[in-house]
Amino acid sequence: MVAPVPGFTDEIAKNGGATVMLCFQCGTCTAGCPSGKFVAYRIRKLMRAAQLGLKDETVNSEDLWQCTTCYTCSERCPRDVQIVDVVTALRNIAVVNGKMYDGHKKVAANLIKVGHTVDNNDKIKALRKELGLPENPPTVMNNPAAMADFDKILNLTGFKKLVA
Ligand code: SF4
Ligand code: SF4
Repeated sequence: MVAPVPGFTDEIAKNGGATVMLCFQCGTCTAGCPSGKFVAYRIRKLMRAAQLGLKDETVNSEDLWQCTTCYTCSERCPRDVQIVDVVTALRNIAVVNGKMYDGHKKVAANLIKVGHTVDNNDKIKALRKELGLPENPPTVMNNPAAMADFDKILNLTGFKKLVA
């Protein structure tokens, strides 16, 4: 049975998504959402479920992970709902509850492994070489001391545990 979870909207607000309560369901966000053109994801529906405190329906929903955070909806919302912040809040809650979409998990795993969300594979290395660039960019990827510091941050913030 679909049932609201008391305090869920407060939890969303604590995670940065307080403006969800301003939504009056006009549908402008869904009309312009590029993701919604290709999949069944409807951001307006997700906003409504969040407003109603339907934790299971939002946190366990595959839709939650279909947003590309392009901000088209946030720019157009007549109520100034910070829609991407709401999506981020819902994702934060989902991750803390042990739910993360596989694609996002891969990106997070790359961050742990090489300090970038996209790994530097042989093809990219060859292209960089062709352009006269070093194989790795001058970031944590090429700086063991900076990578060690970054690793400390990942441990201290509990990021690694969340992704595991
Ligand atoms: S555009 Fe804003 S007010 Fe309209 S449905 Fe979307 S979030 Fe709600
Ligand atoms: S930010 Fe997300 S929900 Fe908003 S328009 Fe872009 S893909 Fe759709």
